[in-house]
Amino acid sequence: MIAEVIIDSRAKKLNRKFDYKIPDNLKDLIDVGSRVLVPFANFKTLEQGYVIKIKEKTEFEVKEIAGLDENLSQSRIELARWMARKYFCNVSECIKLMLTPGTRNKEIGKRIQDKKVNFIYLTDKFRENPNLVELLRGEKQKKTIEFISKNEGFTMPEIMELADVSRETINSLIKKDFIKIEEQKVDRNPLALKRKEENEKLKLTDEQQLAYNKITKAIEDKRFEEFLIYGVTGSGKTEVYMQLIEEVINKEKGAILLVPEISLTPQMLDRFIGRFGKEKLAVLHSKLSIGERHDEWIKIKENRAKIVIGARSAIFAPLENLGIIIIDEEHDNSYKSESNPRYNAKEIAERICKEDNIPLVLGSATPDISSFYRAKQKDITLLKLTKRANNSNLPKVEVVDLKKELASGNKSMFSQALYESIKENLKNKNQTILFLNRRGYSTFVICRECGYTMKCPNCNISLTYHSFKNKLKCHYCGHEENIVNKCPSCGSDKIRYFGTGTQKLEQEIKKIFPKASTIRMDVDTVTKKNSHEEILNKFKNENIDILIGTQMVVKGHHFPKVTLVGVISADSSLNIDDFRANEKTFQILTQVAGRAGRENLPGKVIIQTYNPDSFPIEFSKEQNYDLFYKTEIELRKQLKYPPFCDIIVIGFSGEDQNEIIKFSTLVHNMLKTNIEKYGINVFMPMPAPIDRIKNKYRWRIIAKGNVTEEVTIVINKCLQNLYDSAIGKKTNISVDINPNNMV
Ligand code: ADP
Ligand code: ZN
Ligand code: ZN
Repeated sequence: MIAEVIIDSRAKKLNRKFDYKIPDNLKDLIDVGSRVLVPFANFKTLEQGYVIKIKEKTEFEVKEIAGLDENLSQSRIELARWMARKYFCNVSECIKLMLTPGTRNKEIGKRIQDKKVNFIYLTDKFRENPNLVELLRGEKQKKTIEFISKNEGFTMPEIMELADVSRETINSLIKKDFIKIEEQKVDRNPLALKRKEENEKLKLTDEQQLAYNKITKAIEDKRFEEFLIYGVTGSGKTEVYMQLIEEVINKEKGAILLVPEISLTPQMLDRFIGRFGKEKLAVLHSKLSIGERHDEWIKIKENRAKIVIGARSAIFAPLENLGIIIIDEEHDNSYKSESNPRYNAKEIAERICKEDNIPLVLGSATPDISSFYRAKQKDITLLKLTKRANNSNLPKVEVVDLKKELASGNKSMFSQALYESIKENLKNKNQTILFLNRRGYSTFVICRECGYTMKCPNCNISLTYHSFKNKLKCHYCGHEENIVNKCPSCGSDKIRYFGTGTQKLEQEIKKIFPKASTIRMDVDTVTKKNSHEEILNKFKNENIDILIGTQMVVKGHHFPKVTLVGVISADSSLNIDDFRANEKTFQILTQVAGRAGRENLPGKVIIQTYNPDSFPIEFSKEQNYDLFYKTEIELRKQLKYPPFCDIIVIGFSGEDQNEIIKFSTLVHNMLKTNIEKYGINVFMPMPAPIDRIKNKYRWRIIAKGNVTEEVTIVINKCLQNLYDSAIGKKTNISVDINPNNMV
């Protein structure tokens, strides 16, 4: 038998198949989807490859497969090949997402070992003759053996602590052959320290029940149907998810729930543990250690975990017999990968659900414009939850015009209204969240004399000032330098630190409200694995007055005592160079507003802005998604943006700018000849808005049109021709459809 194998080669862009003979001893083990080791070219080590087809014979003289590593199902291999075509990447890159994490290492064969722990037991010799204890002279040794007799299966450190004895004492008992060490495999379990606090199933409201019934009908009928649960924050979406999952589990099937990484909070997990217990649950996200991810994956593979909760890549969790996929906060842009393979977990989910004949459920308070459009077109079944489940009211939102504040002489970061409200809230001992919409908006350094800004020498973007280190730092490459007092360009000393960072905001608060306690959450304070959790717990448990933060404070947390949310400036996300600017602004403001007044205390939100009349801000005041959608979809139609059209971004990067220019011109001509006839408009190559990162120049070609299956195939062919030719070898090329980030 012959296997067609894709080599996971260091030679990039190698999507070719090679034939190998299957040796007799592996005949019954190797199938489509097997990861194998093969000799390749004149390489000294064996290469990894993936079997994509089995056939009778080959016309070539072929080598033999040397070994077998792991097996994937045929449908997974099909999925990987589909992804490679759709997202213009290597099949092997896609397959890697589906393999057990940590089993693939640079040195082939070197594996993340199962974690083993040493436990202590009595020896048979002692067990048969407990009177041996009389031979012991030392009191400590007697005490230790007594403890172990009652408590077998503890570890050395546990015995030392619980019996209050030294390592030497225990070792001397081992020497006497009274006790022995036994090594056993244990799971590294990210939920190990969690306790279960019972979370009772709630009686659904009418709206929840209706949504639940429609979806369970699709489960019963064993058919694919896509649903969009459009429900305001607090309308009980999560309760519906939990009951759907229960339904699926009762049918002996599994469930995947995707959430944005940042919403995967301990509070959220506690709710699921409280309902389902932690044995059935597996969690997958990037903050886990590789060992933990490995063990969670095995737990799923061995069918011990039935429910997978995780971020984007959990869509590939190896659950057998899947019953439902749920994607919460479906508008969140973390579901689309921004590096190779540039896949969209929503599209993967749709394919898996169609193949398995199961429902796909999307949920959001502010659906993705494209999803809502599809719902309007009846491509997706729309399910509305219009009321808050626990009858708390939506908060009152006030928009403050910063232009007017400035005109009246208020130059501080706080409008009169926000200042008064914080003061009032402090007096009433309620909690406040201050949110800084900081995307592309941080403290940069500018010379007021000549306008010179301090930029990173490698990346050509502004350096950011970090006051805790008193240094300037590049957010792209990490370059750091000392602050300057004189302008490096004109020598003037009129250097100004411009913009607002969270640190600056915290300092201001301390100045104005010296007695208020504050805590800050942003990329600088959230570094360690649990720091995110620690900050939130601290804020909640220690009743800290004011939480100051960036995007991270926005999502999914539940703070009963927060009655005031202040948005310091709503404008920065409005001004980004991206067709989703309005959508992002509306989403973020609505979500921030949703943090206030979630239980019986009424909530208040103050949004400060220089653009009070812009429609995303206007409509977020009423939290009126429907009106926002109507306005935005008209704009998209007029300007030919998604969902009416796809934006293709072909990126070029490399150290040799001349080569990039030549190469991109060639690609431009190639695309014009090949895809313009499908109605795709191909624009000229241009430097990207950030034209250099880490000393690599960045150019791009933008094209607009409907990317059909046919167009995808043509682009793939063009790319293959380019890789085959020797042109542009030093330039990296990437293709992305509707990327999140246009810079
Ligand atoms: P969402 O996921 O839409 O933000 P949640 O599921 O978190 O909403 O629900 C918000 C609050 O309402 C939670 O405290 C939850 O326990 C409560 N809740 C949800 N459904 C019900 C219900 N049917 N009856 C009573 N309370 C409910
Ligand atoms: Zn200057
Ligand atoms: Zn840099």
